Amino acid sequence: MINLLDFDAAGLADWFAQLGEKPFRARQVLRWMHRFGVDDFGQMTDVAKSLRAKLAAVAEIRGPVPVRDSTAADGTRKWLLDVGASNAVETVFIPEANRGTLCISTQVGCALECSFCSTGRQGFNRNLTTAEIIGQLWHANRMLGAVKQPGVGDSGERVVSNVVLMGMGEPLANYDNVVAALKLMLDDNAYGLSRRRVTVSTAGMVPAMDRLRQEVPVALAVSLHAPTDALRDELVPLNRKYPLHELLAACRRYLDNAPRDFITFEYVLLAGINDSDADARALLALTRDIPCKFNLIPFNPFPDSGYRKPSAERVRRFQEILMQADVVTTVRKTRGDDIDAACGQLAGRVRDKTKRNLNAVAPAARQTITQEALT
Ligand code: SAH
Repeated sequence: MINLLDFDAAGLADWFAQLGEKPFRARQVLRWMHRFGVDDFGQMTDVAKSLRAKLAAVAEIRGPVPVRDSTAADGTRKWLLDVGASNAVETVFIPEANRGTLCISTQVGCALECSFCSTGRQGFNRNLTTAEIIGQLWHANRMLGAVKQPGVGDSGERVVSNVVLMGMGEPLANYDNVVAALKLMLDDNAYGLSRRRVTVSTAGMVPAMDRLRQEVPVALAVSLHAPTDALRDELVPLNRKYPLHELLAACRRYLDNAPRDFITFEYVLLAGINDSDADARALLALTRDIPCKFNLIPFNPFPDSGYRKPSAERVRRFQEILMQADVVTTVRKTRGDDIDAACGQLAGRVRDKTKRNLNAVAPAARQTITQEALT
């Protein structure tokens, strides 16, 4: 069975052509799947019955299988999704007054081994498929009651207004599947999000950043985390392959011909490691000629991490130095404290190799969900 959630618009049209079907038929089906959240061909009332039967015989619309659904006191909602072979990933919805942000995962585990990230410590398992990536948005819209009803215009609200690829994994290391999912997010027949409301976060995969800019120039967040190569080599080992001057040059290229755009630099604050006044000033010097914002993320602790979170006063001071240089700097707030959700460290402990059973999920360490101004 072919899962139609694996196709972007062009891919679906090609597949329809192979079936001898016209492109507009593919668009109709795309709309039913993504705008209306339908997973049953029988419900596609404006599609000819014969085509519906033909599709049902060879294809399916298979979304992720939720195994847990938790809502925090502050409204943050987290779904644990089964992706087979006792693997699971998490998707987090963060409602705010003027927007709703969905944080989605792109890989099971991660190969980059950033020293302060619990996902990195578990190693890499596999890439998520396009269906598993876009399926997180598809599922969230269905669960949040946001799918539009055909024939009633836009009355169904789009609850997810922003998407950030900041869950588990390095999005640009799963390039093709991520790009197909991004194209669906932007497609008017699917989710119709503006490219500024979709953010890819990368640890700095330089060649893929250049490709992304050409193929789907969504908003870019870069996990900077250190002002020098010596420190960044240690925190983000990918820096040994793409050192700071190459990374920053790629950031500049990303913004070429996009005067209204900016890079969001993410910076995890680790007490005594990268949080001094001198570090803040070095960051300013390093990024001086790049239109950017900073998003400071006080370290989210996990067992045996070897790192500590700085004091609130240290965070405030670090932010102040950047702000005094007129660089917009936000500090990630904690959300969903009571449901153990944390961007960048999600579902870290889900894989129970001994019991091979999703019900045997070890309780995640006390973590916080992170969010910030990434419109
Ligand atoms: N691989 C992508 C997406 C990762 S998650 C990237 O590196 O950008 C999003 C952010 O959470 C990244 O900036 C990541 O470095 C950060 N992060 C990871 N572990 C963290 C922790 N324990 N505390 C705070 N932020 C963390």
